[in-house]
Parts: sequence; C-alpha cells; structure tokens
Amino acid sequence: MNENKTLYIVVPCYKEEAVLPETSKRLREKMRALMASGKISDKSRVMFVNDGSKDQTWPIIERLHEQEPEMFSGVNLSRNRGHQNALLAGLLTAVNYADMIISMDADLQDDVNAVDAMVDAYHEGYEIVYGVRSKRDTDTFFKRFTAEGFYKIMKALGVDIVFNHADYRLMSRRAVEGLAQFTEVNLFLRGIVPQIGYKWTTVSYERAERFAGESKYPLKKMIAFAADGITSFSVKPIRLVFAAGVVVFLVSLVMLLYALISKLMGHTSAGWTSLMGSIWLIGGIQLLSLGIVGEYIGKIYNETKRRPRFIIESVLNKE
Ligand code: UDP
Ligand code: MG
Repeated sequence: MNENKTLYIVVPCYKEEAVLPETSKRLREKMRALMASGKISDKSRVMFVNDGSKDQTWPIIERLHEQEPEMFSGVNLSRNRGHQNALLAGLLTAVNYADMIISMDADLQDDVNAVDAMVDAYHEGYEIVYGVRSKRDTDTFFKRFTAEGFYKIMKALGVDIVFNHADYRLMSRRAVEGLAQFTEVNLFLRGIVPQIGYKWTTVSYERAERFAGESKYPLKKMIAFAADGITSFSVKPIRLVFAAGVVVFLVSLVMLLYALISKLMGHTSAGWTSLMGSIWLIGGIQLLSLGIVGEYIGKIYNETKRRPRFIIESVLNKE
C-alpha cells in the first residue's frame, strides 16, 4: 500500500557547489534505501532548487539530472530570492508530483537519517512532521543564544512556532496545498506552517556542522529574518505603543496634580506648572493616538495578508 506514495525532498541551494556532490550522494543512498524497503515509490525524487547562484550550483544540478533523471530534479530560479522563497518555489513545484515533501538544507546540517522517521510518521497519518534539534552542541554560543532567545521572544509575542525547529520538515500534499493558500509576500515559513493545522508531530535529530562552504545567513540576514518573523506574525509591538500611551497619560494626570499643588503652595517659578502640564499631557495623548492609529494599521496589515480564514480537514455529510 505504501509503495505508491511518492516522496520529494526539496533542497534550496545558494552557492552550494562545495556541498552538492556529497549531499546528492547521501540523499541518493537514503532514497534508494527507502525505495527498497517499499516506503516510497520509485517516482520519488530529490529536487534541488537553485536560488540564483552564480557558481557551479546549477551546472552540477543539471548534470545530476542528466545522469540520473529518475533520482534528481532541478528548479532554477531567475535570480536570488532568498532561502524562504526558494523553498516555497520548490514545495509548490514538487506538490504537483508528490504525496509527501520533505524540505532540507543543502549543507547536511539536517541529519539525513531523520527522513526515515518522518516518512514513518507520514504513513501513520501525520500530515506535518517537524524536525526538531535535540542538541545545539555544534552551534557557537552566540548562534545558540540568539536563536533560542528568538524562539522565546516569538512565543512571548503569541506567535505559534515549534521550538528549535528550522525548515527541516515533512508536509503531506494536502498540507502544502494549504500552504499555497497563504499568499503573503513576507514569507516566514516556520510561522505559517503551524497555521495550516492538521495532525502533526515532531522528530528530533542532532544538528550537524555545515559539511562544507560557509553559512549563507550572515548576522545581517539573520537579524532581518528574525525581524521579519516577528513583524509578519504579531501586532503585539503595536499594542505595546498603545500600552505605553496609557501609562504616560496616567502619569501625566499625576504630574498635573503635582504641578498644580506645587503652584498652590507657592514653590514654583512662573511658567513651570503650565510647562510641566503640557509636556506630559501632550506626550501621553500623542502616544495614545499613535497606538490607536497603530491598531488600525494592524487591522490593515492582517487584511492585506489575505490569509485563508480556514482550511477544512474533513466534512461529514449524508445527502
Ligand atoms: N539558501 C538559499 N538562498 C539564500 C540563502 C540560503 O537558498 O539566499 C539556502 C542554502 O543554500 C541552504 C539553506 O538555505 O541550503 C540554509 O542556509 P545556510 O545553511 O547557509 O544557513 P545556516 O544553517 O547557516 O543558518
Ligand atoms: Mg546551514
């Protein structure tokens, strides 16, 4: 029964000429083993997405496909669009051919052996299987600290994400079709995928070191990515402005009272009371107004995303 289920492994690649030979070798072994055990069909493929690399990445992918068209596929983006977009391009291409799709980094940091557990979970009926890092020994202290801090901030802001999960995951065709309904342009897949719903589980794996080449996520990109994650999913920062407005406004009332009492008791120089009063009052009113305007912007922001309002898992109906 499992034999007709087709797996696609989607691998976004940006300047990955140094790792592709090894990555393709390990993925080929893994795919062959899975096919031999009957867990996936022989229509299954490894799909490399070239994210506009100018190095040998695409020529390598072309050669792999030429030599083994029944193992390797390729998608070539017109230019560099960033990891998340490249991944989405791969998922939405693969969904035309696959029953389940696993996304994985090209640098072998995601342990290839976790694929078995993901495929097993799929056969048990899970539609989304998140790869979760069990250890971060191989990360630098800085990377670990910033990454884990980021997950905590996201949680605190009420964003539903899976702790220590990057973009190593399996999705069923149905789940990817759900993902396709999210038309937002600021892609933060880790935040969107939990919004799809369906039955999900996690598989833990040990994060390895990058096999070769260097990280394509320098600090600058990392910060932009984190900021994108927060601002694409939470209107809480806007609410904070509003809360600050309320606090300042209340303080201004106290200050007003204090200034008036000081004046009545005659401890003040001329003009101080009105100055104090206006500074606090105007500050408070401005912040409050900003918060109110922000609330509306928050609404506009949610509307413009045009996210699906629901995804139906099943319907029971007798006609
Ligand atoms: N990547 C991509 N486009 C980019 C940057 C990165 O497709 O603009 C790919 C990259 O080839 C790799 C994955 O995204 O397969 C993760 O990148 P990397 O390993 O450099 O990130 P890190 O693990 O250092 O966070
Ligand atoms: Mg990496």
